[in-house]
Amino acid sequence: MPRPEGTVRLPRFALSLAASALVAAAVLLGIPDRSISREASAMGSTVAPEPLRGLPGYALEPLAGPIRIGVQPGHWRIEELPDELTRLRASTGASYGTLREVDINLAVSRILVDRLAAEGLSVELVPAAVPAGYRADLFVSVHADRADRPDRRGWKLSPPWRPSPESRRLARAMTEAFRASGLPEDQGGVTANMRGYFGFSWWRYSNALSPYTPAVLVEMGFLGNPEDRARMRDDPALYAGILLEGIRSYLAGHDRGNLDALVPVLYRGRAAGPSGAAGRASPSFGAAVLERYPPSRYLIPVDAAEGGWFEVFSRPLRRGVWVHERELDAE
Ligand SMILES: [Zn+2]
Repeated sequence: MPRPEGTVRLPRFALSLAASALVAAAVLLGIPDRSISREASAMGSTVAPEPLRGLPGYALEPLAGPIRIGVQPGHWRIEELPDELTRLRASTGASYGTLREVDINLAVSRILVDRLAAEGLSVELVPAAVPAGYRADLFVSVHADRADRPDRRGWKLSPPWRPSPESRRLARAMTEAFRASGLPEDQGGVTANMRGYFGFSWWRYSNALSPYTPAVLVEMGFLGNPEDRARMRDDPALYAGILLEGIRSYLAGHDRGNLDALVPVLYRGRAAGPSGAAGRASPSFGAAVLERYPPSRYLIPVDAAEGGWFEVFSRPLRRGVWVHERELDAE
């Protein structure tokens, strides 16, 4: 269970930028907690890799040497978080009696690391305090979900907000591996806390991944659900095997030289059209409407899907909802 994002803080490196560039960077990222002026957001574009390439400390260069993989057991060594993340040190994860999420995460991660290393890959366990600007061919943060909802069950996973094409491809490969396992899926359960996980939040914290590291956060199941709990406690190798399949599938299509695919995709803000817009649970007109936006309501996409769908962050719902471009003003 990841912790919520806190108030907006720009990372240290951003403080060295000129004020205008700093504002532009924050605006381009569409940081959900920030009120954003329409004029400033218009500086963005549907796909705008250039502003990111200019950020100091994050060189967009191909990795050298063996394929490098970071596996993070969620909440592991959380007490080592640096000052900028002090308030998250208490984020020790979910628990059910004496069963702790962090121990499950660690058991699964250790098996996964051993199996990847046996295949000749360069793989390491990454603590909660992600080394600043951590680069790898892929990064997986492994979690188990809350214990207070026995009626909830199943796995779910997500890339960060504004994913790069490679983060999205990694999430797709992992999703296929989990679906192939036949384990129950917590459909529609992805939260804002997962997508805005602090280890992903390179625009906010120093101790976060490089924006160019393809990443996914996996919630394997719910500690509060008896079947999920027993499976996670007694069979960590099952989950490690599923993650391994997802990683293999992702790496089969991996091209280190394709740097463009590592750059997070940013989206221009859009206003709801003259009849307003609906925020749906998934990118489909058949999906449940969770929110309605009045005409001209300004929306900042954080992701997109085929067929003209944009995902926007709903602050009241603490999750993403989907709007269709036909209900938005023309760009
Ligand atoms: Zn967790």
